[in-house]
Amino acid sequence: VDLSELPTRRSSLTGTDLDGNKLTLAFAIARKLYRCPGCRESVNVGAEHVVVARKDVTGEGYHQHWHRDCARTLVRTLKAARSIPA
Ligand SMILES: [Zn+2]
Repeated sequence: VDLSELPTRRSSLTGTDLDGNKLTLAFAIARKLYRCPGCRESVNVGAEHVVVARKDVTGEGYHQHWHRDCARTLVRTLKAARSIPA
């Protein structure tokens, strides 16, 4: 997997972060306003962006909405990243 790759309509990305959490990144279109955790700016309605689902070792998790450019930085930190069908 090219780690600079981002999710598309056809493929998602999965990998493990430095804390051992499982991350799955998927392509999405914003249906409402979100706050990107990467830069704290808004992800506007209609924007193509990345949903990042995070699960810890207990299976507990949450998801956040990232700008595509901001998610690129996140992807670079993933271990064992691979592409999966969306
Ligand atoms: Zn951002």
